[in-house]
Amino acid sequence: MSLNAFITEETIEGDEDGPLDGKTIAVKDNISTKGLRTTCGSAMLEDYVPPYDATVVERVKAAGATIVGKANMDEFGMGTTTETSAYGPTKNPVDEDRVPGGSSGGSAAAVAAGDADLALGSDTGGSIRCPAAFCGVVGIKPTYGLVSRYGLVAYANSLEQIGPIAPTVEDAAALLDVISGPDAHDGTTRDEGENSDYAAAADGDVEGLTIGVPIEFVEGADDGVVEAFWDAIEDLEAQGAEYTEVSMPSVEKAVAAYYVIAMSEASSNLARFDGVRYGKSGGYEGNWNEAFARAREEGFGPEVKRRILLGTYALSAGYHDKYYAKAQDARAWVKQDFDSAFEDVDVLASPTMPVPPFKLGESLDDPLQMYLADANTVPINLANLPAISVPAGETEGLPVGLQLIGPKFDEETIIRAASAVE
Ligand code: GLN
Repeated sequence: MSLNAFITEETIEGDEDGPLDGKTIAVKDNISTKGLRTTCGSAMLEDYVPPYDATVVERVKAAGATIVGKANMDEFGMGTTTETSAYGPTKNPVDEDRVPGGSSGGSAAAVAAGDADLALGSDTGGSIRCPAAFCGVVGIKPTYGLVSRYGLVAYANSLEQIGPIAPTVEDAAALLDVISGPDAHDGTTRDEGENSDYAAAADGDVEGLTIGVPIEFVEGADDGVVEAFWDAIEDLEAQGAEYTEVSMPSVEKAVAAYYVIAMSEASSNLARFDGVRYGKSGGYEGNWNEAFARAREEGFGPEVKRRILLGTYALSAGYHDKYYAKAQDARAWVKQDFDSAFEDVDVLASPTMPVPPFKLGESLDDPLQMYLADANTVPINLANLPAISVPAGETEGLPVGLQLIGPKFDEETIIRAASAVE
């Protein structure tokens, strides 16, 4: 039975002889592919065929990878389960009654099921790490500015990065080597790091590494998840790492701050989908306001509409200071907490998700519950840090992901530590 991991299945051969020669890759459907439909999981973009490749797509093609299709996702990246897709949910290959996580659920499911060797996802608040954790594969959310966002359809551009999903840490790191580095098309990319060798960092050597466990990330998580988490930490200790508990009180505010900022940015970014500049037209009768409203009414699903409305509200005169400015203060506080933690430790560790994968349909009617499941992933995006999710055992037959967080642009250390977990 099909997992519905792909929205569009089509093959595009890459060049020959690159480092990814012979590898197949699934590309999340919010990453532009020249000549290949790119829907963002939305009915709005049902017929949209980009005239250019995203920088990451250009790079994987030049590296020899063969694109096998566009992976299913929550509409515009807004979700944690891949159920808000206009093209139907993706099933988790580990247990087909469950969600694969989201929003890059199609990417992670394709890799876990062996339908693609590698995948590209995007992570605004956990969308690479959550599905990697739920499907039992590896996902890396790179430091903000390491990977070009040129050609990524923006959801919340101050938070998001494109990153790799793969069966092993080494494969994920090798894909990061290909896609990272400066890009003249994206002014937020860092100028250095063209000749990285992240794959070489996956050497499993954690001797002398100090791991901090922010206790706020573990409290409140499901018992089975917590047990698998501590087993993984003990295993790292047995390999020569040291662990210490740290406290990060700001993370309590992270989910609220994240959703205010993400929805505010989304309300501005999604304004281009009006049926004229982008998106399917609902017909041009009446005045422009009516025509735009019709396109949006027909093109957007309920979660996207909710977020555009809430984001517009949070940015409106009179409420800006109460919500948006406050969320930015909380964001600064989260950054400070990470800065002080990294004065004492090399990496931070937590369960990637506080819960095992939801049953299909379980969380759809309760958006707030869905937002709270992002508690451990969104602080990393607020602080623009790198993090990896690596499989760390299971609870009741369902995969548990371990999240390792590093200081800015120190992808090597989290890759090294994660390779010792495998
Ligand atoms: N679940 C989060 C959200 O809905 C994160 C999504 C993402 O990283 N794209 O916003």
